[in-house]
Amino acid sequence: MAQKQTDRKPDLTPFFQPRSVAVVGASATPGKVGHTVLHNMIEAGFTGTLIPVNPKGGEILGHPAVPSVDQLPHGPDLAVITLPRQHVAETLRQLADKGTRSVIVITAGFKEVGRDGWYLEQEIRKICAQAGMALLGPNCLGMINAAAGVNASFAAGQPDQGRIAFFSQSGALCVAILDWAAGSHMGFSKFVSLGNKAGLNEADMLDHLADDPETDVILGYVENVENGEAFLRSAQAACRKKPVLMIKSGTTAAGAKAASSHTGAIAGSDQAYEAAFRKSGIVRVRDVETLFHLARAFSRQPLPYGPNLAVITNSGGPGILAADACGRFGLYMARPAQRTVERLQAFLPPHSDFYNPFDILGDADAQRYRRTMEIVLDDPMTHSLLVVLTPTAQADVEGTARAVADMARRMPDKPVFACFLGMQGVRTGKEILDRAGVPCFVFPEPAVQGIRAMYDHFLRQQRPLEPAETRPRDLDRAAAVVQRAREAHAREIVEFQAQEMLAAYDLPCPATRLARSSDEAVRLADELGYPVVLKIASPDISHKSDVDGVRVNVRNPEDVRRVFWDLTARAAQLRPDAYVVGCVVQEMAPPGVKEVIVGFRRDEQFGPLIMFGLGGVYVEIMGDVAFRLAPLSRRDAFEIIREIQSYMLLKGVRGEQPVRFEILEEIILTMAQLALDFPEILEAEFNPVLVNHERALVADVRMTLRS
Ligand code: ADP
Ligand code: MG
Repeated sequence: MAQKQTDRKPDLTPFFQPRSVAVVGASATPGKVGHTVLHNMIEAGFTGTLIPVNPKGGEILGHPAVPSVDQLPHGPDLAVITLPRQHVAETLRQLADKGTRSVIVITAGFKEVGRDGWYLEQEIRKICAQAGMALLGPNCLGMINAAAGVNASFAAGQPDQGRIAFFSQSGALCVAILDWAAGSHMGFSKFVSLGNKAGLNEADMLDHLADDPETDVILGYVENVENGEAFLRSAQAACRKKPVLMIKSGTTAAGAKAASSHTGAIAGSDQAYEAAFRKSGIVRVRDVETLFHLARAFSRQPLPYGPNLAVITNSGGPGILAADACGRFGLYMARPAQRTVERLQAFLPPHSDFYNPFDILGDADAQRYRRTMEIVLDDPMTHSLLVVLTPTAQADVEGTARAVADMARRMPDKPVFACFLGMQGVRTGKEILDRAGVPCFVFPEPAVQGIRAMYDHFLRQQRPLEPAETRPRDLDRAAAVVQRAREAHAREIVEFQAQEMLAAYDLPCPATRLARSSDEAVRLADELGYPVVLKIASPDISHKSDVDGVRVNVRNPEDVRRVFWDLTARAAQLRPDAYVVGCVVQEMAPPGVKEVIVGFRRDEQFGPLIMFGLGGVYVEIMGDVAFRLAPLSRRDAFEIIREIQSYMLLKGVRGEQPVRFEILEEIILTMAQLALDFPEILEAEFNPVLVNHERALVADVRMTLRS
């Protein structure tokens, strides 16, 4: 067998479409995993060679068993291993010698149980890698490819064949999903339980499924990604080909604990995943129900080509809820054309609402729904439709569901979603809609959010990829600053030390000078012009306000002298351990500036996570921030500013002029550049950047170095 040591992607054809499958550990005893797998393979209608391996030999479920792997006639395309864990490695070696192409290790008891398990897992990983055998698992449920008649899993029952692929790190979730799918008429093209991911992982699945002609939509459940870079690359490529929807759980706050900056404290690993999903175009879904609804919508319905949503309802309240959700998720309620209104008025009862939301009243029957849908969808200003039904006594749940299903089938370019409120009373209707590929929600909000997700996907597909932005800088000059800090074994570069860095990146800063004595402070303040800001300068004090170490609006020489003494005395008292160099004398920003923060934290998996938000000393409390992964494009910088709640504040309220957004964008892009230039900087932040309609000034900076 040729060794595959290259970076090339494994060919997963023998894995997903094996012509021969060995079940190693096959058992004649019902209830044993080795029995279920063989049984499932047979039930799935596998037409290739199926060989049970069991030391007792004989016949299992009608198939003659081979007593050991040595005695296989040849290496199968796929071997499924259900043996106790102490036998797994040796069996894999034998399978490798036979020339087996791929393996699924269902057996548990590896990395997930601790140290010895971890070593065993390393061993089997190595055996498979050296032999070029694709490895799924260990500790997984297996894999199903209904179209190829393969069910190499110990799941209960056979899922329907469909055009949706699903992979999951959690086996339990696989079981739940299969059960759910069976109850809601959902079929799968491929179904993969990744387990411990010693071999195949999310990136491999994305690579393969993106080009799988049987898959229209890719679904994934992820707890943690181990190679962020590969994941991003594969996800980015896959999302350009088809929609990818994922649930991410298992959020940890580990990153936050060690943080020494505001950015580090807020930017946790969940934000990094969120940013990674956004960068690659993955639709993040929060729960399994929504995952299914959206999978259905993405696979069976067209993408909306505009933001205008029409809502037809037989009750007022849910219509209003839908309209509210529309605003919240950035869609518009479609405004009907005059002709649409007239056509509706011609047949609807006079008390109906002829404007969106179209309330066609509690006694609406299926025919009234059908006519209204036809007219509303005919309006060119309608881009998507949500049909809301409350099961009133007069409502025809099934008839309406059929009408909605018909409509969805006939619409080539407008998605139709449903929201049937309730449970028991609408069950049959939901069933009809499920089969027709119309997502049917219980409440309007998630339905509207789903339409928004489809519209986002449409927008992404429309616009070209934006190049990453590079910023001008003097790298040698910047490197010298980092070098100096490293030589001093510093963990942080604080404001007075970082001025040179800001200059190297050509960042706009208030004039800043270091004064070692009160005399010098007065002289420098005279030079800068009053008022000035004085700040404590100590390599050991990074949060200056914590020691009351910042005074703004110092207006004359006497005050400068007094404040200098005051700040240095206070620092000596509050932080006797700190070496105080003196004070920084800084140009004071004009009144009325707004404080924002620009920072980054280097995420272990995904690299520099850039943060922008409302700044100042209360950043963590406000928590009004947005994130992007570096490298950034111009559009990223544009969007990140507009994503925070306080954007309205920056745009100006009560007659204020908007702040200089272009300069802010440049500062954000420069921060991303700095993060990419210096991997040895773990975190950095400009807080605050003071901005008004004319200028933006980086008024404070701190950087944390890798130790
Ligand atoms: P810290 O180390 O506590 O973060 P900063 O340098 O950020 O110290 O200063 C704290 C606060 O002082 C800022 O959030 C800002 O409100 C104000 N401030 C700092 N520098 C200036 C300046 N040059 N002009 C105006 N206000 C400033
Ligand atoms: Mg600060």
